Amino acid sequence: MLEIHDMREHLWINPQHTWEDYRKRRSLSDIKLIVVHDTENNINDIKIANELEIKNTALHPMGLPRIRFHYWINEAGEVYLCNDLENVTWHSHLADKKSLAVALVGDYDKQEPKKENLKILEVLLNKLITELNLSRKNVFGHGELKLYLNFTRCPGKNLIKYVKQYRKIGRMV
Ligand SMILES: [Zn+2]
Repeated sequence: MLEIHDMREHLWINPQHTWEDYRKRRSLSDIKLIVVHDTENNINDIKIANELEIKNTALHPMGLPRIRFHYWINEAGEVYLCNDLENVTWHSHLADKKSLAVALVGDYDKQEPKKENLKILEVLLNKLITELNLSRKNVFGHGELKLYLNFTRCPGKNLIKYVKQYRKIGRMV
């Protein structure tokens, strides 16, 4: 059983705005893709990671409403739910409206993902594709979505290979 820490009521929200100020809530059936990201850092405390994202003004001068990811997994393998799945967050440009963001903490150009965390990611992806009526073929690494104008190294060369393997055979490890 996968333990998921539901942080939706507990994370600090940017008082300036919420996701709904920008994009209407969607229904779950609008979700067609699951996008895997890394965080390019080693911040493993969800509250600190959230505040940093809000203060990161690169994406918006007033800061993000809150952390971009729907699901966030730290290096200890703890899984956190950070946003309603119906919230359209900013994480994959033109694919935002139809996709869900799952992030693994770390920089996977520089480090290797831990086997145990790949397993946790796999179990989470399995759960999500079942609940959302998708298939493993709907799971992509962020930088693979070039069609939606995502030109990024995310989620890193050491993680993307497992995402591709998952899409192919439904397993990461
Ligand atoms: Zn990304």
